[in-house]
Amino acid sequence: MSDTIKAIRGMNDILPLDTPHWQHLERVVAGTLGAYGYDEVRLPLLERTELFSRSIGEVTDIVEKEMYTFSDRSGDSLTLRPEGTAGCVRAAIQNALVRGQQRLWYQGPMFRYERPQKGRYRQFHQIGAEVFGLTGPDVDAELILMTARMWRELGLGGLTLELNSLGSPEARRCYREELVTYMEAHEEQLDEDSRRRLIANPLRILDSKNPAMAELIAAAPRLLDHLDDESREHFDGLCARLDAAGVAYRLNPLLVRGLDYYSRTVFEWTSTELGAQGTVCAGGRYDGLVEQLGGRPVPAVGFAMGLERLVVLMRQAGTEPTHHIPHAYLVMVGEGVGVQGVALAEQWRDAVPGLRLTVHCGGGSFKSQLKKADASGARVALVMGEDELARREVAFKDLRGGAPQESVAVAAVAKRLRRLVTEGMTHPEVTEVSA
Ligand code: ATP
Ligand code: MG
Repeated sequence: MSDTIKAIRGMNDILPLDTPHWQHLERVVAGTLGAYGYDEVRLPLLERTELFSRSIGEVTDIVEKEMYTFSDRSGDSLTLRPEGTAGCVRAAIQNALVRGQQRLWYQGPMFRYERPQKGRYRQFHQIGAEVFGLTGPDVDAELILMTARMWRELGLGGLTLELNSLGSPEARRCYREELVTYMEAHEEQLDEDSRRRLIANPLRILDSKNPAMAELIAAAPRLLDHLDDESREHFDGLCARLDAAGVAYRLNPLLVRGLDYYSRTVFEWTSTELGAQGTVCAGGRYDGLVEQLGGRPVPAVGFAMGLERLVVLMRQAGTEPTHHIPHAYLVMVGEGVGVQGVALAEQWRDAVPGLRLTVHCGGGSFKSQLKKADASGARVALVMGEDELARREVAFKDLRGGAPQESVAVAAVAKRLRRLVTEGMTHPEVTEVSA
């Protein structure tokens, strides 16, 4: 087995036992986005490298060390998308979607060359939303309230909303000077990363995860105390809406987010149940980015959520989606039974909305087929042999409740299956008798 090919480190297969959780998550999130008036866009996984260096910023973890970048056969530098916002903005500009107002969402895999660990992978999945053309705190609030609703619908309690404002570019410039003065006065306490950031992107020092830096950072001047009037008003407007809707938040002046392009609102949803990688959703306003990428000056705000981490929380919360388990499993043995059986199965699927019916393939004895039926988790086995076929009957064998096997006329099977789907009961008569 030494020469079998394995997946790339940090790139995971999502296997049949996991996909029901993913599908449930994707259904709930996509459903909520649709209900709030967001339209889906599907974007390429590959973009020109320049798109990311120009939008995310040269001095960020992503652009400095996390991108999968390569030259294609004509020598163009391409990069597997590390996040969705840059591509979404590129597409919006290119397709003239940045006129007026747009509410968009996207989903799919993202790629970052990170050190793989729990909750941090090299291929991971996000669902993100971006709104173009709206400046006010109303839409910032909408995005946050929408995510809060998603967590409720997914049964995820215990998530904390952290909130900050990065102010206007001018306010941030003033603050930046003050922060640099402060950090320079304590230069001997700065780690290597922070020294580099001090010159290129000092705000990102606040983002440092190095415990040795924590004290210095906690005592640093705060951007929230230096907001320009308009940003203050914007932030107050956002908080007022969250208060009115009953969504709790925690002000976190150290929340600056890894990316360069944010302005004003930044937020994160975090969990204490995930260890070190506790952020499940992060977003904010990026009013300058569309223009920076060559579009008209159009304000924008958005978020992205990490699906791997949300799936872990769903599992921990005990949500067990079971929709992949069949209601019924059709067992067929004997001359000509397979041909008739598959035709009947198609008729039942036509007649019974929502029916999950697995038809046995591959032949074998009754015993071995019933074993497969049992392993499938189905509530009932529909058993057809030559005798049943001759009598135009199907035997219903209860696989879960131990009720006696029962013969049902072919003409009555659809009705029985409908009851199984709607009531989830294999043998209603038996239940009635014992009640
Ligand atoms: P961090 O500071 O943890 O590296 P980030 O700022 O790089 O996070 P974002 O770019 O904001 O993360 O991505 C939004 C969300 O996507 C994160 O909150 C997280 O849930 C998820 N995410 C980001 N990177 C990864 C990864 N490598 N593996 C799994 N999920 C990820
Ligand atoms: Mg990161």
